[in-house]
Amino acid sequence: MKSSGSITAGKDSKTGSARDALWPNYSPPQDLVITHGLGSELFTAAGDAYLDFLSGIAVTSFGHAHPHLVAALNEQSGKVWHLSNVFRIPAAERLAGRLSEHSFADRVFFANSGTEAVEAGIKAIRGYQLASGNADRYRIIGFSGSFHGRTLAALAAAGNESHMRGFIPMDYGFDQVEWENLPQLKQAIGANTAGIILEPVQGEGGIRPISAEFMQQVKGLCEEHGLVLMMDEVQCGVGRSGKLFAHQHYGITPDVMALAKGLGGGFPVGACLTTEAIGETMVVGTHGSTFGGNPLAMAVGNAVMDLLLEPGQLDEVTAKSDYLMDHLQKLVAQFPKLIVSIHGLGLMIGIKCVVPCGDMLNKLRSKKLLVGKSGANMIRLLPPLNISYEHLDQALQIIEEALLEFQDA
Ligand SMILES: *Cc1c(COP(=O)(O)O)cnc(C)c1O
Repeated sequence: MKSSGSITAGKDSKTGSARDALWPNYSPPQDLVITHGLGSELFTAAGDAYLDFLSGIAVTSFGHAHPHLVAALNEQSGKVWHLSNVFRIPAAERLAGRLSEHSFADRVFFANSGTEAVEAGIKAIRGYQLASGNADRYRIIGFSGSFHGRTLAALAAAGNESHMRGFIPMDYGFDQVEWENLPQLKQAIGANTAGIILEPVQGEGGIRPISAEFMQQVKGLCEEHGLVLMMDEVQCGVGRSGKLFAHQHYGITPDVMALAKGLGGGFPVGACLTTEAIGETMVVGTHGSTFGGNPLAMAVGNAVMDLLLEPGQLDEVTAKSDYLMDHLQKLVAQFPKLIVSIHGLGLMIGIKCVVPCGDMLNKLRSKKLLVGKSGANMIRLLPPLNISYEHLDQALQIIEEALLEFQDA
């Protein structure tokens, strides 16, 4: 055993297994090692095929080894990988232009992850208020059940006690309001409030789309009080909801939006999109990233955009969502003692369980279906956006078999 309590090196031996060299902050199943993937399937060295309804947590939205994405990566990898933002990156200019063209936004900052995109947005909210002569407006309101990433300000914004623990010794300028509690929200808005951050569909906290009514109310309050409205669409954005961006289901526009996960199809890409008024305040010296928007990431990001913008692509997501939800509802009717309800938007679907969702996840995995978990005892389904109906049927059959086994147990 190594000594605990001392900060300095105190390891007696280096005889542990290779994975002992990693932080123990993740707990992957020890018996499953994936060697490659193709489309919606993942394969092990032993030749087992798994159906991938997790997509690397809503990241590999066009499956694994998609030829268009592989070609984009391969072509760029022989040219130039990285330059830093000391130089112009035409592919970043192009992707920013395409994101702007298809959204409310005029200006884009590229990062490498979701939490960095969120941090950029938090700075943009404060930077805008500062530039508008409102130096005292720095506080940002977040909602219970939110997840915005693991960096310090993102943790403070989400306010999840179990994630914050001793890591956040101060409030970092964030206020917490209960999800969809309008009176509490009104009360939280004060002279120091700069903006509001929310996920249109909460991911980690349970697959919860915001109600249309509350979304309108939040938008109204932002307009009334001069607050910046920021959407965290790191998980629900980029086609996952059946529209390019989830807030587009609500007929409102935010002022700031964080994207990541699906944007690079598996290559780390994050982006913070803003209106012109906000983006133009983020001048030289306000923010930056060494890796953000590098040529390799941007080549893949543009290739993902090609796929997303193909005619009919997003309608397909909605059709498949309807199909999946419809059949899952039937399973709820058939197994009311095991699963109670289906939640979500597009191909971001939660199955609220009565059986412990961890047991359900393990059983599904033993039947070669990979899924995720979410808050409030939910199984989370995040299949690739281009999944086939054949694979949807296969997954539904596995879920039914698993439920039958729970029922008989
Ligand atoms: C995953 C996620 C993040 C954090 O993204 P990372 O790439 O892990 O930093 C932020 N917000 C939401 C809504 C997410 O789902």
